[in-house]
Amino acid sequence: AAPQRTRHEAHPPSHLFYQGRQRRPLIDRADGLYIWDVHGRCYLDGSSGAMVSNIGHSNPHVLQAMQAQMARATFAYRLHFENAPAEELAARVADRLPGDLDRVFFVSGGSEAVESAIKLARQWAVATDQDSRWKVITRQPSYHGSTLGALAITGYEPLNAPFRPMMREMPAIPAPTAYLDRDALSMEERGRRYADLLADEIERQGPDSVLAFIMEPVGGASTGALVAPDSYYTRVAEICRHYGVLLIYDEVMSGAGRTGAFVAAEHWGITPDIMVLSKGFAAGYAPLGAMAAPGRLVEPVLDAGGFLHGYTYAGNPLACAAGLAVLEEIDRKHLIDNAAIRGTSLLQRLAELKERFPFIGDVRGKGLLTAIELVADRETMAVLPPSLNAHARVVELAYERGLIVYSRRTRGGMEGDHIMVCPPMIVTEAQLDELVGMLAAALAAFAR
Ligand code: PMP
Repeated sequence: AAPQRTRHEAHPPSHLFYQGRQRRPLIDRADGLYIWDVHGRCYLDGSSGAMVSNIGHSNPHVLQAMQAQMARATFAYRLHFENAPAEELAARVADRLPGDLDRVFFVSGGSEAVESAIKLARQWAVATDQDSRWKVITRQPSYHGSTLGALAITGYEPLNAPFRPMMREMPAIPAPTAYLDRDALSMEERGRRYADLLADEIERQGPDSVLAFIMEPVGGASTGALVAPDSYYTRVAEICRHYGVLLIYDEVMSGAGRTGAFVAAEHWGITPDIMVLSKGFAAGYAPLGAMAAPGRLVEPVLDAGGFLHGYTYAGNPLACAAGLAVLEEIDRKHLIDNAAIRGTSLLQRLAELKERFPFIGDVRGKGLLTAIELVADRETMAVLPPSLNAHARVVELAYERGLIVYSRRTRGGMEGDHIMVCPPMIVTEAQLDELVGMLAAALAAFAR
């Protein structure tokens, strides 16, 4: 069937462009889980934007904190003035992160945070006489950002292909999938086998050339909320330690409470060498991201002449004031506990949808980072034909019913269409009913 045109597609000519020709309505206002367009239509924000608006929209405490900061100073260049919100936020983040991750560098988004991690790792290697180490092993599929450095460690063929001549693409190993070998091997054994692919790749590349390994502990846009077997996390950390390879956790999507822990690393008791945060960290109130690392990585770089890296807006007082207030709100409302509790309930509801719709092949996630995967055949987990554009079709059908969800078709021969179901961490049981009801209606329409 031809894709149904929504009423939003008719749009006046515009000077603005983003990814495609599809246009969306103008936003009027947002509050909590809901967004209104200028036509007065109300939408439930079922994926928190792109897993960003973790504490909901228009939170009065955050707005007040930002207004108070705005009345004092919105910007001061960090090489001219330090600012108290940045100092305090760094201290709180250091306090919350596992192990020795107590040195914090602020940026304005996820890609910048990932770039910063790569550049810190490399400068640490140079400063400690390990110049031969420069390769950053990544996973296929994965998503780490859109700047050329972050893209070079992103395993997502359609995004990489046009830029190949311009970037030094890094080696990749397959990310664990939800279903490969699922009957043949125990979970633990699968986790170890996938982790051992990292050891094989380090050997193939030459251990002295490998600088770091980067992974999303719970997959985001790349693998659709994929959680690996427990053994994967511990074994990957052991392999990195064995080879002196830095372990970088990209918690841009999984961090700031969404999985039911402040960072997903806590679920497995892992302290990576470097961690990056963004998205839910300032929850859409300001562009903010962070890279955290231990003193043992940062000090040699500072001793060797300084960290050759920076962004004009890094650590600006307004963004940091927003980040601080978001953290306060997460604590005050016990939103991390709520993410864990509602997440369990959401997974149960999605499992019920799987009973109802045979084209749902898998339901997965941790806390409120969850997804459903659409397949042609649940037994073989064969993917739906790309021409069907199933994930985008379901998103449109949900949109028409007032539900906003985020979807992806990730290939690389492994994953198919998936739809992220990731409401803000303030979601109530009644709102989960509402969300899943609208999603069920969209899936029923898709089935017709
Ligand atoms: N890493 C991960 C895991 C992400 O999900 C994203 C964004 N989807 C990024 C990095 C890049 O973040 P940004 O779009 O803020 O640059």
